Amino acid sequence: MTKVRIATVWLDGCSGCHMSFLDLDQRLISVAEKATLVYSPLVDIKEFPENVDVTLVEGAVSSVEDLEKIKKVRSRTKILVALGDCAVTSNVPSMRNPFGCEAICRRAYLEDTVNPQVPSQVVPALLPEVRPIHEFVKVDVFAQGCPPSADAIFEMVSEILEGRVPILAPHTKFG
Ligand code: SF4
Repeated sequence: MTKVRIATVWLDGCSGCHMSFLDLDQRLISVAEKATLVYSPLVDIKEFPENVDVTLVEGAVSSVEDLEKIKKVRSRTKILVALGDCAVTSNVPSMRNPFGCEAICRRAYLEDTVNPQVPSQVVPALLPEVRPIHEFVKVDVFAQGCPPSADAIFEMVSEILEGRVPILAPHTKFG
C-alpha cells in the first residue's frame, strides 16, 4: 500500500500545536500505518520535499522567511491545513501589529539589556504585520483552536487519510 506523504511546518507559533499533535500518543501508530512523515521540525530533514500529500502548518506569517516557506510549501502540497488559531487568524503573534516593527525591535533588543543590538544576521527580517496564512496562499482545511485538541487533530488527519474532507466544526473552537 502506498503511504500518504505527510509534513508539518512551524511558522510563527509557540509549538503548542505540534505538542497537541504529539498528544495523539499511541494513535500516532495508526497514523504511521497509513502515512509517512516526510518533513517536520520533529525530524531532521532540512529541505521541504516535492509531492507532499498533506501539510499541517502551525503559526502565522511574520517574517520574510515565513513568507518564502509558506509559498514553497503550498507549491509542493496537495492538501494544506492551517493548524491552530495562529495559522487561521494570526492570533497571538499579531499582537505586535499595532506597535510596528521598529518599536518591537527596540523593546526586544535595545531596552533594558546589557548588550543592546538589533540582529542583522540569522534572525529573518520581520514583515510589517503578522498575517494568517490564507492571506498569502490557498488553505484547504482550517483547524481552529489554541491549540486544536489531539482528538480534533486525530479526527482531521484520519478523515484526510481516508480521502474525505474533514468536518471539524463539532470538534474545534477558537481559543
Ligand atoms: S494556536 Fe495557540 S498553541 Fe498553536 S501555535 Fe498559536 S499560540 Fe501556540
